[in-house]
Amino acid sequence: MEKIYFDHAATTPIDSEVAKIVLEYTAQKYGNPNSIHSFGREARKAVEEARESVASLLGADKSEIFFTSGGTESDNLALKGVALANRKKGNHIITTAIEHYAVLRSCEELEKQGFLVTYLPVDENAMVRIEDVKNAITDKTILISVMFANNEVGTIQPIKEIGQLAKEKDIYFHTDAVQAVGSCPIDVNEYHIDLLSLSGHKLYGPKGVGAVYIRKGIKIGALQDGGSQEHKLRAGTENVSGIVGLGKAAEIARREMVGRIAYVTTLRDKLIKGIQDKIPDSKLNGHDERRLPGNVNFCFSYIEGESLLLNLDLKGIAASTGSACASGSLDPSHVLLAMGLSHETAQGSLRLSLGCGNTEADVEYCLEILSQIVERLRSMSPLSATTNLLLNNPCNQYYNH
Ligand SMILES: *Cc1c(COP(=O)(O)O)cnc(C)c1O
Repeated sequence: MEKIYFDHAATTPIDSEVAKIVLEYTAQKYGNPNSIHSFGREARKAVEEARESVASLLGADKSEIFFTSGGTESDNLALKGVALANRKKGNHIITTAIEHYAVLRSCEELEKQGFLVTYLPVDENAMVRIEDVKNAITDKTILISVMFANNEVGTIQPIKEIGQLAKEKDIYFHTDAVQAVGSCPIDVNEYHIDLLSLSGHKLYGPKGVGAVYIRKGIKIGALQDGGSQEHKLRAGTENVSGIVGLGKAAEIARREMVGRIAYVTTLRDKLIKGIQDKIPDSKLNGHDERRLPGNVNFCFSYIEGESLLLNLDLKGIAASTGSACASGSLDPSHVLLAMGLSHETAQGSLRLSLGCGNTEADVEYCLEILSQIVERLRSMSPLSATTNLLLNNPCNQYYNH
């Protein structure tokens, strides 16, 4: 059976060039970068080259890049590290209702420690309104954290405007850019970003490695005690092979971003248009234009996302409902709820996230299979229009009770 991967927002396949270098630094070049002998120096050199490569992708200086175990740790470090180190200045944090749980749960933890957190609402397209950010700022606000692009519905936020506002008010600005790095051109200076989280495995790199950009001069404390690695901000022997893999992924992203964006956007638009043309009662979630190149997210009336997902999987198509971290539970997505969708509609969402390994044939196959599945599930659904017609038809005794 043909297998199609449409879940790049959960994780991307690893680039073959990346896999090769990860293996090299796992199997042969295994030195500890903190050792001063030749094995150590070889590893140190590779780690610093990776730092340079990640910095280049963001328009940052290499001294502003700190390696972590991934997006979750980067978010935790940025939020808690800044909050705890700036407590004397103020105890108020502004974020949004649609953040990844790595940010939301970090904020909840900070609330337990006495911080006040404002969770900004979003509009029906999942966009944060600048006015709301402005109005939320108090003289106690020390940090604003707004994700660059949403992992479920793909909406790209007005980051530059928020960054400008934060800068004017002398408030630190963090963005969770895990979904955006490699898919959107980002320059930390142009966008006035002070802290930024990214993750290797959302960028065709390895899992378990990420980085946080921290602008020079930002006051931040470590969360972990131990050695003095990463300028004492992140103790523990560096994940050398992961870091080198992330560096390679960043280098490739920088080189190929423009072409990748154009290619994936074309596939995305073909899939969106195909679904809208072929499947009635389907609703696109997220913004029409300010949307991640690979993100497609739909609600199909009368159908649960979970049944769609399982039926697509039987046909070899890997998709997702909302975010991977939330699946396994039938809770409706907090992002769709924040956009104003009802609980019922929010349970019917399907996310198809495309990447640069996908083809037009994948899109066509998916369109064909998806419309068949939707039609079949609707014909069985007690909620569907056809069933309702039968139920409400007084001539039809059989369905009447
Ligand atoms: C995947 C993701 C994370 C978590 O990154 P990990 O490296 O898996 O810990 C954080 N934020 C967003 C927006 C994500 O998509």
